[in-house]
Amino acid sequence: MAGRLIISLDFELMWGVRDHRSAEDYGDAVLGGRQAIPRMLALFERFGIRATWAAVGLLFARNRDEMWLYSPSTRPEYAHETLSPYPDLNQIGQDESEAPLYFGRSLLDRIAQTDGQEIASHTYGHIYALEPGMTQAAWHADLMAAQAIANQAGHRLTSIVFPRNQFSETHVRAARDCGMTAWRGVPTGQVYRSRAEHELSLPIRAARFLDGALPLLGTQAAPPVQARNGSLDVPASRFLRPWSARWPLYSLLHQKRIITEMTHAAQSGKHYHLWWHPHNMGRNIEQNCAQLTTLLESFQKLRDLYGFQSASMADIAKQEGVF
Ligand SMILES: [Zn+2]
Repeated sequence: MAGRLIISLDFELMWGVRDHRSAEDYGDAVLGGRQAIPRMLALFERFGIRATWAAVGLLFARNRDEMWLYSPSTRPEYAHETLSPYPDLNQIGQDESEAPLYFGRSLLDRIAQTDGQEIASHTYGHIYALEPGMTQAAWHADLMAAQAIANQAGHRLTSIVFPRNQFSETHVRAARDCGMTAWRGVPTGQVYRSRAEHELSLPIRAARFLDGALPLLGTQAAPPVQARNGSLDVPASRFLRPWSARWPLYSLLHQKRIITEMTHAAQSGKHYHLWWHPHNMGRNIEQNCAQLTTLLESFQKLRDLYGFQSASMADIAKQEGVF
């Protein structure tokens, strides 16, 4: 069995960062991410990459009325109110030309028109499964809303990426009930376990950061796991960190680490699942595109040498017979 490179992107614009970043201090990265998307698509076409784009449901809306129209009536009542996107909805502007930080339908259409790209879910309102105040009813209502607005845009969502990688078995089961059978799980090891924001302590963040450059916690690469409930975990292997002018050595080691892991996956017939957000590439676009090109050149070599293949999450679900 040939190994697989799986790439998934969490496409969210400001909706993924609005609780801890403002338009003033991070808007440039989000707008830069919009510019980076066509560059990524061109690279994916050039290297024959089939990627999964997990999009926030709000981004399917063409205007604010549509955002409200599809919004679920049952919503999470978070202990931390700033986590809810709904109070923002009336302050963001009417549509994509007025508010490109919050609307993204033209980009979604462009992604969908590119060969081999899968449109998947990142929930409707970028909601958080493990934060206090989330309920099963609100979770289910949100995913139904995500599916409904995507259907209206001509898509059927069969894969999901959970915001901040927060989930439990019941959340996975609810996603399956809403038609999303493939989901991105977490890398192997205790450090990468799914947890609420307050549990993400500094030592855990530091361990994840260091493990991104040095082989501290082993090599990530694993086949998907089929759960008893008929859903498929396509576990993440590694977060592709943005190229950094401040830490050039880190960036170099990070690239090397990913290439080593990818090579291991190609040689042993395993799956290597790389993920990031478009806004991670929104600053230093040239350097980030160069970093991605280097990684995809490695992929190409491994394809020629070992038959390593590119696959979206939906491709994996089809191969495994979970749909
Ligand atoms: Zn997100």
